[in-house]
Amino acid sequence: MTSQELLDDIAAIRWPDGADDAAENRRAFVRRQGAEAEAHGPHRDPLLTSLADLVAVKKAADEQIRLLLAYGRVYVTPRPHTLESLGQAADLTPSGVSRAFGAKEVMTVGTLTDRRPAAVVADHNPDDIPGPESRRRCTWGGSRKNPCTEPPKYTVTDKSGTKWSCCDTHLPAYLRSRPTP
Ligand SMILES: [Zn+2]
Repeated sequence: MTSQELLDDIAAIRWPDGADDAAENRRAFVRRQGAEAEAHGPHRDPLLTSLADLVAVKKAADEQIRLLLAYGRVYVTPRPHTLESLGQAADLTPSGVSRAFGAKEVMTVGTLTDRRPAAVVADHNPDDIPGPESRRRCTWGGSRKNPCTEPPKYTVTDKSGTKWSCCDTHLPAYLRSRPTP
């Protein structure tokens, strides 16, 4: 097998006949491999670089999915998407959706969209918050008479700097209560 045959085979696998812009993508790939070989020497394996390319694409897509789930769950108003509807669209179970993102994604979405300061949201860490209640349930949502019983997922901070545990359901209301920067 010549190296040209190898390139053509990989291009044919990645951009099959009938795919959008297949011919153009194949030519661009072969050109790119030529440039890579010139820059880094002929020992770059196009199969291995193709795999690495696709893993990078996959990781970027996974990251965007996590961000969109966080956005749909926390920022969309007036009614955030349910774990069920997000799960159906993202091919995840409702609990899979809940596990897919955390404070980091919520904060990133805040930065990217310029909505709500999210710097006061962190992943729940029981050792951060005083009181045994905060270890096992959401203490930010609900009332004294009717406390929220959902498990905590975040640590949030009120205006006085007091830390509370907060569940998935109550995070949107918490964020809405924050002053806009
Ligand atoms: Zn709650």
